[in-house]
Amino acid sequence: MGLLLRSRYLLDGLNDSAIEHGVLLIENDRIAYVGGGDGISGTGHVTVELPEHTLCPGLIDAHVHLTSDGTPEREVVQPTGEARYQAQLLRAVRNMQASLLGGVTTVRDLGAPNDLIFTLRQAERSGALLGPRIVASGANITTTGGHGWSGGHECDTADEVRKACRVQLKLGVDLIKIMSSGGVFTALSRSSNCQFSVDELREAVVEAEKMGKRVATHAHSKDAIKSSIMAGIHSIDHGIFLDDECIGLMLERGTYLVPTLAPHTYIWGNPEIRRIPQVFLEKAALIREPNFQGARRAIERGVKIAAGTDSGIPFMTHGRVVSEVETLAYLGMKPLEAIRTATRYASELLQVDDRVGTLEAGKVADVIAVHGNPLDRLEHLRNPVLVIHDGRVVGVHRSVDAPHEPGALSLGDRGGWPGWRWQAA
Ligand SMILES: [Zn+2]
Repeated sequence: MGLLLRSRYLLDGLNDSAIEHGVLLIENDRIAYVGGGDGISGTGHVTVELPEHTLCPGLIDAHVHLTSDGTPEREVVQPTGEARYQAQLLRAVRNMQASLLGGVTTVRDLGAPNDLIFTLRQAERSGALLGPRIVASGANITTTGGHGWSGGHECDTADEVRKACRVQLKLGVDLIKIMSSGGVFTALSRSSNCQFSVDELREAVVEAEKMGKRVATHAHSKDAIKSSIMAGIHSIDHGIFLDDECIGLMLERGTYLVPTLAPHTYIWGNPEIRRIPQVFLEKAALIREPNFQGARRAIERGVKIAAGTDSGIPFMTHGRVVSEVETLAYLGMKPLEAIRTATRYASELLQVDDRVGTLEAGKVADVIAVHGNPLDRLEHLRNPVLVIHDGRVVGVHRSVDAPHEPGALSLGDRGGWPGWRWQAA
C-alpha cells in the first residue's frame, strides 16, 4: 500500500509548465509514479486529495548555519565550554524543525562545529531526529584571524590548507568550505580583501576532488571571487562584488553562484535592527546594493544559481528559502527558474540530484504541497500544507486530510515576512 497524492497542479522540475491534475504515488521512501491522473489506479492506496494545490519537490537551502538561530544577541553573558555546545545543539534541533515547517527538506550547512554537525547529520539519517537531510562542510578553512576564525582551521600556506582539507575529509565532510575573503560578522575582517592566493585555494579543490567532493567559498571582493573561480572552486557564495569579468569566467567554467540575498531584507526590514552591533551594520550596509546588482547581472547572463539564505546570521531565521526564491524573481528571474534554484539546480550543486531535487519515479520522496499555483504567485510557496521527507509525512496542515505520522509537525501560517523590500537607491 502506498500514499497517493492527487493535486490540481504538479511541478516536477523537468517540464517547463505545471502538469494539470497531477498524481504522485509514494511507496516506502520512494516515488513510484508521477504524472497525469490517467496513468494509475487509486485502489489499494491511501489517497490524499489536494484539489486546489500544487505538488513540488521538497525545497533545498544551499547555505545555512544550523547551529545558529538568527538572534543577534541572546544572553548578556555568553555560555562557554560545554554549556555553549549544549545550547548550539538545542538550537540546531529547533532550526531543523523550522526548516521542515518551511518545506525545506535538504540543507547545505556551511559552517558549524565538526562534532556537532556530524552528530546531527547522522541522527537525521537514522531517523532518530526530525529534520532536513544535511549536507555538511563542518568547520571552515580560513586564515589566522581571518573570516570565521573562531570556528575554523587557520591556514596561512598551501600546505596548511592541504592538511586542513585532509582533516575535514577524514571526518567525513560532504564538501569543503573555505573563506576567500573577509565578511560582515567577524569584527576584524573586511569584505574588500582576498584571504588566499589562487594556489592556496586550488589546494582545497585538488584535495576535495580526489574524494569526489566539492568546495564552496565565502567570497565578497572581486579579487576573492576571481581567484576562487580560477582555482576551480565550485560554488561562489555571496559573490558580492561580482562584475562582468567574473560572470564571464563563471559561465566558462560552470561555477555556481549562491548569492544569499534574503538576509538584506530580514536585516534592514527589522524594527529591532539596532540590536546588531554598529561595526557589523556598517559593513552590512556596504554590501547590500552591490549584492543585488551583481545577482541581477548574473541572472541576465545565465549564471548557474542555487538558492541559499545564510540562515543563522542575525535575523535570518531557518526555513525561509522561499524568500530567496522570491528575491531572485524580483531581480528578473522567471518564476519557474526561481523555484528550480531551490530544487533541481540546488540538488545538482549539492550532489544529491540522484536522490532529490525533482519529482521522478525512483527518487526519494521529498515532496511538498502548497495552496494555489506558485507559478502565478511565488508567495504560495511560503506556507506548505504538506511536507513529506524520505517518504514520511513530517508536516501537515489541519486543512489537509493526510495520515498523521508520529511526531509530524503541525503546519500553519508562519508569517514573519518583513514588509520592507529592497529598492535601487
Ligand atoms: Zn554563511
